[in-house]
Amino acid sequence: MHPKPSIAIIGAGPSGLLLARLLEVNGLKDYVVYERDESSTPGPWQQGGSLDLHGPSGQKALKEAGLFDKFNTVYARWDASKVHIMNSAGETVGRFGEDRDAPEIDRLQLRKLLLDSIPAHKVQWGHGLQSIERKITGLKNVDDVYTLHFQNGAFATGFRLIVGADGGWSKVRPLLSKTQPVYSGKMYIEGKISHNNSSYEEATKLAGPGMMMAMGPNKSLALQQMADDTYRMYFGVVVPEDFYQHRHGSAMEKSEAIRDLMLSSDKFYANWAPILKTLAANAEGPFRAWSLHYLRPEEIGWERHLAPGVTLLGDAAHLSTPFVGEGVNCAMYDALMLSERLVEVCGRDSDIESVGKEVLEEALLLYEKDMFERGRDLIRRSAESEGVLFSENAEEKALGFVDGEHDTLLYDVKVSGDR
Ligand SMILES: Cc1cc2nc3c(=O)[nH]c(=O)nc-3n(C[C@H](O)[C@H](O)[C@H](O)COP(=O)(O)OP(=O)(O)OC[C@H]3O[C@@H](n4cnc5c(N)ncnc54)[C@H](O)[C@@H]3O)c2cc1C
Repeated sequence: MHPKPSIAIIGAGPSGLLLARLLEVNGLKDYVVYERDESSTPGPWQQGGSLDLHGPSGQKALKEAGLFDKFNTVYARWDASKVHIMNSAGETVGRFGEDRDAPEIDRLQLRKLLLDSIPAHKVQWGHGLQSIERKITGLKNVDDVYTLHFQNGAFATGFRLIVGADGGWSKVRPLLSKTQPVYSGKMYIEGKISHNNSSYEEATKLAGPGMMMAMGPNKSLALQQMADDTYRMYFGVVVPEDFYQHRHGSAMEKSEAIRDLMLSSDKFYANWAPILKTLAANAEGPFRAWSLHYLRPEEIGWERHLAPGVTLLGDAAHLSTPFVGEGVNCAMYDALMLSERLVEVCGRDSDIESVGKEVLEEALLLYEKDMFERGRDLIRRSAESEGVLFSENAEEKALGFVDGEHDTLLYDVKVSGDR
């Protein structure tokens, strides 16, 4: 590896790895990715659900990265976009999404697709960023000096550009903004339905290759198929942030306590149809709780002078709740836009060392102008969708998904504002 890369990307999630790939294909190879995970395969259980990649954003980014053909032939599940909407009585409200341009891919597969496209030595595993120290030079044309301190005791310095792609709880963001994730009050609690689960056949009937979402007052219950044909089951509930964590016992004991409560309390699923309660009763633990946070849209944005040579991508910049299913698409589109601005100023097959501080700042300013707008829009639409999904009369509102009334919430990453 180059003894001192010029670009540090923090986080090997979709946005960080895609940026790395886009730099690679454009010949800006002087970068390193620092990732907190110890290795590329944390195990399928830890990966969370499947992600759908949309034509104008996620898929476009893969095309520009030269990865779309592989995505399409090896991983993309085009028939997984089908959604079956039910009500709490177990009746079908409708179906939608069959023709959507939104093929699914498992999270770990997306990571593999991206990792396989860059040299292995460019990712430093086991490098969770702890903090960034900044030494201000105060000189117009001389870069400030940032030192990255990692949880493993290592440190690194001398970068021209630091890109925080480290998700919603970014350790890079405090350099640029005081904003902090806010708990939405909503939680997805995830279990699994494997091939040998007695509810597996029922799950295939209800969700098929795609998704089933049953909606009731202030809550939902969902099933989603994964690449190996198993299912993830989600309780979507309104609960305090420590609802899962504060319980005592092992992960399995916590899961059983949650399940008992969900199935016995009228506040949750006690009066739901047996067909849905049976799925919940059979879902395999230990459950995983996703407490859903967002950044306030009015707090998205910063002045460039706060941290020259530092910027953010994806959830680190504009964490939203996942209720429009576009977070990863927006994150990947950010990576595409940032790479384009960098290639514009550096040129292809070049080096970021070749551009001056002011030119680099101008490129970041241009990238951020559209990214802020895109991120605010995503957070606002996610909140609107959350209002529909968790409303008292969610069952009636669910019809809006079937007849297309909510389409602008679901399929509209703001790409039009970009140059
Ligand atoms: C339950 C749930 C369901 C979702 N469903 C969808 C969906 O269907 N469609 C969709 O588009 N989006 C969905 N999202 C949102 C989507 O997952 C995110 O928007 C997307 O993953 C953001 O990508 P990212 O690269 O910005 O961040 P992340 O995916 O969060 O990746 C960040 C990376 O940085 C690493 N990291 C974190 N901290 C550090 C550190 N200190 N040092 C080094 N590395 C670090 C992490 O390990 C990770 O690899 C969902 C989110 C949730 C929670």
